[in-house]
Amino acid sequence: MITLYLRKTDIRFLLILFLSFKFHSCEDAINTLFEQINEATVKFNRLGAEIAWQYSVDPNDAGLTRRSADYQLERIVWQQRSCEVVEGLHEQGALNVTQQRQAHLLCRGPKFTYEEARAMSNLYDGLLTIYSNAAVCVPNISNVADGLSHEAVIKQYLVKLNRFAKVDGRNVSLKTDKNAPKREAIFCIKGEEEFDKLMKTSKDPEVLEFVWKIWREDTRYMRAPFRELVNVQNEAARRNGYTNIGEFWRDELEIDDLRTFCRRLYQSVKPLYELVHGVVRFYLRQRYGDVVSARGPIPAHLLGNLWSYNWEPLAEFIIPKTIDLDDRMKSLNWTVIDMVKRADDFYISLGLPAMTETFWSKSLMTRVNDNERCHGTAADMFKDGDFRLLYCSGTSFEDFSVLHHEMGHIQYYMAYQHRPGLFRQANTALHESVGDAIMYGVRTPQHLHRIRLLNDTELFDVNNNNKINKNVRKTTVKMVNAHRIYKNNIESDTNRIAAFIDDSDVGDISTDDILILKQALNKLPQIPFSLLIDEYRWRYFEGSLDENSLNRHFWDMVRELQGVVPPERRGEEYFDVGAVFHVADNTPYIRYFLSSFLQHQLFESLCRASVRGRRPRWMPAKWDLLRCDIYGSKVAGKILKDLMSRGSSQPWRQILEETIGESNISATSLNTYYRPLYKLLTRLVQKYSIPIGW
Ligand SMILES: [Zn+2]
Repeated sequence: MITLYLRKTDIRFLLILFLSFKFHSCEDAINTLFEQINEATVKFNRLGAEIAWQYSVDPNDAGLTRRSADYQLERIVWQQRSCEVVEGLHEQGALNVTQQRQAHLLCRGPKFTYEEARAMSNLYDGLLTIYSNAAVCVPNISNVADGLSHEAVIKQYLVKLNRFAKVDGRNVSLKTDKNAPKREAIFCIKGEEEFDKLMKTSKDPEVLEFVWKIWREDTRYMRAPFRELVNVQNEAARRNGYTNIGEFWRDELEIDDLRTFCRRLYQSVKPLYELVHGVVRFYLRQRYGDVVSARGPIPAHLLGNLWSYNWEPLAEFIIPKTIDLDDRMKSLNWTVIDMVKRADDFYISLGLPAMTETFWSKSLMTRVNDNERCHGTAADMFKDGDFRLLYCSGTSFEDFSVLHHEMGHIQYYMAYQHRPGLFRQANTALHESVGDAIMYGVRTPQHLHRIRLLNDTELFDVNNNNKINKNVRKTTVKMVNAHRIYKNNIESDTNRIAAFIDDSDVGDISTDDILILKQALNKLPQIPFSLLIDEYRWRYFEGSLDENSLNRHFWDMVRELQGVVPPERRGEEYFDVGAVFHVADNTPYIRYFLSSFLQHQLFESLCRASVRGRRPRWMPAKWDLLRCDIYGSKVAGKILKDLMSRGSSQPWRQILEETIGESNISATSLNTYYRPLYKLLTRLVQKYSIPIGW
C-alpha cells in the first residue's frame, strides 16, 4: 500500500509544526516535503510498472483490473493533493530552481477524475485488444500441397476467389473465417509481426494488397472508442489549463511552437526524401508496371512494410542482393540471446554498465504464448537493478536494431536511477535517440566485420569496384539499360529484367554504398510518417477535422507528407490511422520524428569524440560518418553517460548544450551522414531522367 502522504490541510499544519519544532528553517521543511514526494513518485512508478508489465505478458490476468483501479485512485488523489501544496509554495516564491522544476514535472499534464481515469483505462484496453487481435485465417478451400509458403497459399486462395481485385474483401467473409474452427483453416496470421513479415517478404502485388487490407479490417472498430478516449483526455487536459490534450503532448517536449518547428525540420530533409522516393518509384514501376505511376504517389502496399515506413526490403530491386545481413546472421546461427549479448557488449565497450542479472532473468525476448503483447518495450521497474526487455524477437538484422534501441532505453534508466524520483525520466525525443545513435556505430563496416557479418574483402572495398561488383555483374548478366526498360514499359513479369544500380550506371558501387542505401530506405521514410501520425492527431484533438471525413483527411495527409496512396479508395467506414500501434497505445509519436534528427546529432558527436579524444567542434569536411567506428570509445561513452544521467533535471536544450555542444535539433548531421547517398542517387536520377516529387 502507498501511504497518502499529503493532505492539503495536513501539510500546512505540518509546515507550521516543522517550522516551530523540528526544522531550522522553512527551507528544511520544504526539502523534506520534496524528498517525500520523490520517494512516493518512485513507489507509484514501481506499482504502475508492475501493472503495465503484467498487462503486457498476461492481459487476461483476472485480478489485474482491480489492482489497476486501486492504483489509479491512489495515484490521482496523491498527485492532485501534492500539486496543490507545491503550487501554493511556488506562488509564495518559496521554491528553489530544482524544486520549481520538480513541481513543474509533477503537476503538468491532464488532471483526470477517478471516473475519467477508469474510463480511460477501459477504452485504452479496448483499443489495444482490437489492435493485438487482428488476425486472418486462410480457409482450406483447395487441396494445398504441403510445404507451400504462406504467400503461395494466400495466392491460391485469392485465385480461387476469382481474383481478389474484383471481390469485396468483407463480403468474402474473411472476417468470419477468423472465427472458423481451426481445422477448417490452413493457417492463421496473427499480430503485427506476422502481418508485417509477409509485407516484407512477398513480392506479389495481390498478396500484398490482401494482407494490407486485412490488417486494416479490424481497426475500423477503433473509430468510436478512439473518439471517446479523446473526449475524456481533452476534458482532463482543459482542467489543467490546456486547450486540448494535443497541447499537452506538444508542451511536454519543451519546444516553442513545435508545429512550425517540425514542419521546418521536415522541409530541411525533404529534398533527400524526395530523391529516395523518386528512385524507389522508378524501380517499383519497373517491377510492377503501371500500377505505380511515373510521377505520382506510390501505392502503400508495394513499399515493403505494413505502414510504408520502412522500405529496406526494396533494396534488392535497386541493388543486387550482395549483402544480406539476415542471411549472414542465419549462417552464423545467432540466437536471440547471442544478439542481446552482442548489443550488451557494444554498450559495455563504451564504458557503460552491463545489463543487470534481473534483466537476464526477467526479460522476455521471444514469444512464450499467444497472449503476450509483443511490441518492443523496455521497462524501468523502479526497483534496484530491475530493468526488463519485452520483445518477441526473431533473428533478423531488423530485430538486432530493435534490441539495440530498447537497450538504449535501459542504459538511460540505469544512468538516471540515482536521481530523485521526478527526474527519473527524460525528454522523450532524447530517450528514443540513444539506442538508434548507437546503431549507427553498429552498422559501420568495421563493426559489422568485427561481428563477422562482413568479410575482409567487403570491409576494404570502399572505392574500388572489386569483388562485390564482380558479383553485381554475375547476378545481372542479363542486365540492360534501365532507362530503356522503363521507356518500353514491359508489362510481363517474366520479361521484365531487373536493372540494378551498377558500376556501369553510376560509377563504382561499394560496400558502403550498399549499406547506406539500405539504411536510407529503412530510416528516411520514417520521417514523414512520424510527422504525419501526430500532425493528424493534433488536428483531431483540437477538433479541426470534419467528423464525416476523418479517413479521407488521413489519406490526404499521407499523400502530402509521404507521397503515398492507399491501394483502393478508403471510405469513412474505415479508421486507418488506428492501424498504427502508437495510436492504439495512445502514445505520442512526434518523439520519433525529432529523434530521427537527434540520433544523427548524437552519433556525430560520439564520433567526433571517439576520433579526436575530446569534444571538438571541428571535423574534416569530408568526414565519412558511415565509417565512424565508435566501438570501444570510452570518451564517447562518457559523453553519453553524462547526457543520460541528468534525466529530466534540466530542460533538454541545456543538457544537449552542456554535453554535446548543440542547443537545437537540426538536420545538419543527418544530411552530412547521407551525403554519399545523395551523390549516388543524384547521378542515377540524372542518368535515367528519373522524375522527382509527386
Ligand atoms: Zn523506444
